[in-house]
Amino acid sequence: MRVFNFSAGPAVLPEEVLQQVREELVDWRGAGMSVMEMSHRGKRFVSIAEAAEADLRELLDIPAHYKVLFLQGGATGQFAAVPLNLAAPGATVDYVNTGAWSKKAIAEARRYARVHVAADAGAPYTTIPPTETWQCSADAAYLHYTPNETIGGVEFHFVPEVAAPLVADMSSTILSRPLDVSKFGLIYAGAQKNIGPAGLTLVIVREDLLGRARPETPTVLDYAAMAKDGSMLNTPPTFAWYVAGLVFQWLKRQGGLAAMAERNRAKAQLLYEAIDASGFYSNPVDPAHRSWMNVPFTLAKPELDKQFCEEARAAGLVTLEGHRSVGGMRASLYNAMPLEGVQALVAFMKEFERKHG
Ligand SMILES: *Cc1c(COP(=O)(O)O)cnc(C)c1O
Repeated sequence: MRVFNFSAGPAVLPEEVLQQVREELVDWRGAGMSVMEMSHRGKRFVSIAEAAEADLRELLDIPAHYKVLFLQGGATGQFAAVPLNLAAPGATVDYVNTGAWSKKAIAEARRYARVHVAADAGAPYTTIPPTETWQCSADAAYLHYTPNETIGGVEFHFVPEVAAPLVADMSSTILSRPLDVSKFGLIYAGAQKNIGPAGLTLVIVREDLLGRARPETPTVLDYAAMAKDGSMLNTPPTFAWYVAGLVFQWLKRQGGLAAMAERNRAKAQLLYEAIDASGFYSNPVDPAHRSWMNVPFTLAKPELDKQFCEEARAAGLVTLEGHRSVGGMRASLYNAMPLEGVQALVAFMKEFERKHG
């Protein structure tokens, strides 16, 4: 039996995509072999790779002067790749700190660049500092921010306007709604939240930012080198790339990102309304900046956390444990989580409160 999986990542994939993968797994469209066994330079895999990029470009309406890279190393690899590629030695880079993932990006960037924290939400990281208060450097090579803090559940529902090229870690929000890519210098995302299986990392980068990498930049992290070889400078994560391509096609069949935004808004609203209407559950995030993708919540009786997760699991609602650093609960509502999953969660929460509240 399939459960409703609220994991923050690796996360739920569309069942339709998994079924398609199963059908094609052993013998991909008459090739006599699995995608996993194909040469990445053969015409079959190249067609899979090109279709995935074309579908992604269509979904996000990516302008022609942006490159799309299919890399490895996760978002964490990009924490280093961004300063190595975009900041000359000694250059200043601006970062906005809105929580756990911002902090990790900042810590890694400090190894390579002079990091200026232009804005810091401060503990307990439940809000976004108003953009008027951001203290941006005059000469920053870029400004980095985290549009959705996967652990804290804080999301930007706007794109900040800054002078420096805007760099965004979109790991847990990419493809959840339409996006104006032209406002960004660079977007990156680990695949395992809203794109596909772990092992693939997407980078969307404006062409004029290419070719500035420091000489010591590892070749596999060098955007210009990777762009030149169509992300096939070395063996790419072929199977993850293929499955991501199937997810892109699924998104197109759903009506694209405008349709996903409507669904995601409705799913999040249903859960936040249930939390706010109860005296038993609470979410600490500033209502203006609550994430559509990751909803942390706590119980009025934290001693029941474990029991909540156990009973939820028995009801087919799994991976609701909060991040180990914050405790409580967290429900991740990525694209592939159907509305029925959120409805089932809300019904379960009401019943749990009735019994134990
Ligand atoms: C999951 C996550 C990461 C880390 O991704 P890896 O692929 O594990 O390196 C970084 N940033 C955000 C916002 C995330 O959600």
